[in-house]
Amino acid sequence: MSASSGGWQGAPIRIAVVGSGPAGMYTAEALLKGQKQRCDVDVIERLPTPFGLVRSGVAPDHQKIKGVTKVLTKIAKMKGFRFLGNVEVGVDLAIQELRDNYHAVVLAVGCESDRSLGVPGEDALGSYPAVSFVGWYNGHPDHRDLKVPPETTRAAIVGVGDVATDLTRIALTDRDALARTDIAEHALEILRKSPVHEVLIFGRRGPEHMKLAIRELRAIDALDGVQVAVDAEEVAAAQARVESPSTATQKKLEYLAELAARPLAEGVRVARFMFLRSPKRLITEGERLVGVEVERNRMSSDSRPTGTGEFERFDVQWLFRAIGYRGVPLEGVPFDDAWGTIPNNDGRVCERRDGPPVPGLYVAGWIKRGPTGVIGTNRADAVVTVSKILADLDGGIIDVDAPKKGCEEILKERGVRVVGFDDWERIDRAELERGKRSGKVREKFVDVKAMLEALDEA
Ligand SMILES: Cc1cc2nc3c(=O)[nH]c(=O)nc-3n(C[C@H](O)[C@H](O)[C@H](O)COP(=O)(O)OP(=O)(O)OC[C@H]3O[C@@H](n4cnc5c(N)ncnc54)[C@H](O)[C@@H]3O)c2cc1C
Repeated sequence: MSASSGGWQGAPIRIAVVGSGPAGMYTAEALLKGQKQRCDVDVIERLPTPFGLVRSGVAPDHQKIKGVTKVLTKIAKMKGFRFLGNVEVGVDLAIQELRDNYHAVVLAVGCESDRSLGVPGEDALGSYPAVSFVGWYNGHPDHRDLKVPPETTRAAIVGVGDVATDLTRIALTDRDALARTDIAEHALEILRKSPVHEVLIFGRRGPEHMKLAIRELRAIDALDGVQVAVDAEEVAAAQARVESPSTATQKKLEYLAELAARPLAEGVRVARFMFLRSPKRLITEGERLVGVEVERNRMSSDSRPTGTGEFERFDVQWLFRAIGYRGVPLEGVPFDDAWGTIPNNDGRVCERRDGPPVPGLYVAGWIKRGPTGVIGTNRADAVVTVSKILADLDGGIIDVDAPKKGCEEILKERGVRVVGFDDWERIDRAELERGKRSGKVREKFVDVKAMLEALDEA
């Protein structure tokens, strides 16, 4: 489908994209590519900083991955692109106002909440959803004030996915190595005071169901002074359980068996994978987390973990739940509470799952399909959403003759301080400069006020 195939050529189309993470940026790219000024795309972002989880999710020791910001910056320089940072939809602007003032609105707001475990003690000091702890060490303004107790020697992680491996690496990596990254200074300070020697990673199912790629395990094992540990009997039991494993599963089990057979070197810090265990209770002293009680599971014949009634207790001072991110409902937009996403049909927002579409309203990225996929996944995903917008333009579902003026005037009237892309680039330069002074890749501003002050000073 191409934008030039329908009857709307010549009309200036105004589109609002909410969120400047990979999904929002790739949506803008797909809208602007080859359209030659036919589309004006306003990317509206609640923070003064763009790029969503590339800045505040991707781990500080993964600087190469953060290099994708160069690609996203190129998108921001495309003709017709405008960044409206420091503008929160639902606070500074209502969804209805966007729908009234743009031909189409694409929501690419990501998943900024989490799933809870639903066990007693979950709110203890020291117990965090991944979204908060990750945001905290990455300097996200929402999480900078997270209270994280120091002097932690043992941490637990619930969940055996990619986010769990990020958390494991950050908890165990040598602090001087972390100090060269763009980790937030407040987090580095607490980590320096927390000589974590062991991280327990709990999975409710057996090792044969572990989705984690071998390279993620290798990356942990390759850390200086760190070793991955797993129980040999658990791996052997999994090997016995799986009758005809896929090549990938077989390789994983073989690698785990190899790890299990190695004795732990003296003085190493350990990432211990513990399968077939579900946390049942977090143990506290006062408000502080001191331990976790887990129930052993067995795999039932239909490959489901079932509690055995056998419990274990582990002393831990931090516990992170990495069991999935969830979207946050936006006022005036349908929300599927069971899935934590906005109901949609290939990007067209629907009133409910399998319900009729809401004309002119679209979704892309994690809020569309849930918290799965890497940065690049959002590019193909955005192209699909944009193909629906183009089809609706062509099909007359979007009234292209109605003039739309965007949201600049409303924001001006409300006195909202809009941060443009060039402003962000000044913040970026200031952060890089601060980093240089302290021997880091970058020293982030961790609150919005400081970002705006940096702009006033520059
Ligand atoms: C901890 C973690 C580590 C990861 N590491 C990697 C990795 O190493 N490599 C990799 O390829 N992928 C990684 N990913 C996955 C990758 O980050 C996601 O695929 C991608 O960021 C999803 O893009 P998105 O645009 O849908 O959401 P997001 O990146 O979350 O972007 C959403 C944006 O919307 C903004 N927003 C939200 N609400 C509003 C509102 N009301 N008004 C205005 N703006 C709003 C947010 O501020 C944010 O900027 C990681 C994910 C996590 C959680």
